[in-house]
Amino acid sequence: MKIFEKAFRVIQEIELHGYEAYLVGGAVRDYLIGKAVGDLDIATSATPDQVMKVFDKVIPIGIEHGTVLVRFEKESFEITTFRTEGAYSDYRHPDSVNFVTDVAADLARRDYTVNAIAMARTGELVDPFDGRSAIEKKELVTVGKAFDRFQEDPLRMMRGVRFVSQLGYKLDHNARKVMEDQRLWLSRIAIERISIEMEKLCSGKNVKTAIQLLHDTGLWEAMPIFKDHPELMHALAKKIEPLGTLAELVALCSLLSTRPVLDWVKEWKLSNAIKQDAQHLVRILQSNLDAWAVYQLPVHLDEGFCRLEKIYKEKDVQDNVSSIRHMLPIRNSSELAISGGDLISWFPDRKKGSWIRDLLLAVEKAVVENKIPNDKEQLKEWVIHGYNT
Ligand code: ATP
Ligand code: MG
Repeated sequence: MKIFEKAFRVIQEIELHGYEAYLVGGAVRDYLIGKAVGDLDIATSATPDQVMKVFDKVIPIGIEHGTVLVRFEKESFEITTFRTEGAYSDYRHPDSVNFVTDVAADLARRDYTVNAIAMARTGELVDPFDGRSAIEKKELVTVGKAFDRFQEDPLRMMRGVRFVSQLGYKLDHNARKVMEDQRLWLSRIAIERISIEMEKLCSGKNVKTAIQLLHDTGLWEAMPIFKDHPELMHALAKKIEPLGTLAELVALCSLLSTRPVLDWVKEWKLSNAIKQDAQHLVRILQSNLDAWAVYQLPVHLDEGFCRLEKIYKEKDVQDNVSSIRHMLPIRNSSELAISGGDLISWFPDRKKGSWIRDLLLAVEKAVVENKIPNDKEQLKEWVIHGYNT
């Protein structure tokens, strides 16, 4: 893998300056599992200042926590100094970090043993918590006592559930028990951090198991909106099939809870993109599946919509959606053969106003529904003579 080779050259660069450095975190885990690797994180004994002297292009993105971003041959690598952490009083960041020179001490602050393996440039592993056997057993085991580690940063419970979804692993017995007993610790965590994990959970292969786990552990009791609708997580766990995105989950939850998408967006502090996608999905789920409905749905939501139809209405509409999509005479309003300017010139006596938008929309709909061809002359005729009748 090219990206690994580059990361190893970055590590070599650091070593040439007399420091230690390793690949750490999700990349090592995913590599050992044989999964596609996401971002590559490097940990080093060099302090941020020392790392900055090794490379030309360095962006200090979290220097107080020891992290800098290095640009190396058009790739970015996060390089973090080996550190131990103090308490998490604000439940966002540790109160203090201490830079250390021992990689094992750095691995000890990590959440699960599968995430606490370091890989040297030679491929040799530093694995003090036996993450490899956890990978073999497909188990998520906390580094140290689950009670202590979850108390320190309750987000780790949510991360555990999202790894269940992504990796298809089981939570080890103790971690699972503490999650049940201490589920309300999660309410101390800023919702933005929970949303990020929920988003990753939704795109995992084992969403059903993960949602079931949120239900069975009661973690939902610490989540906005879910906590006000005690039946919701249960209904979700019963219905859910593979999902793709958080927008799909929000759309489904909105329908099952009859709480508008906007409530979810506000209380879960979701992005505008998720808001719009979820609103589109809810709208089409509530309408008849016709040309106009499919036309209004952004094409990137087709798959998600089909998944939701299966979950929500137990219908398989995939072929239907793709044939309707395929037959659409236009893909968006810019492909319409006439514009607002045309309308103004055809009705010189009318004052400019909202009629232009309304009429254009009526034309667009008629074209999409194949009531009239997308041809300027014919549209003009229809607009001037046929529209009102
Ligand atoms: P992904 O593949 O989604 O990036 P990841 O395991 O790399 O998964 P990150 O959030 O990128 O997750 O974190 C990188 C590493 O930092 C983790 O593998 C873990 O070792 C450590 N880590 C991240 N968040 C925490 C946390 N809340 N508590 C302890 N360790 C953490
Ligand atoms: Mg990562």
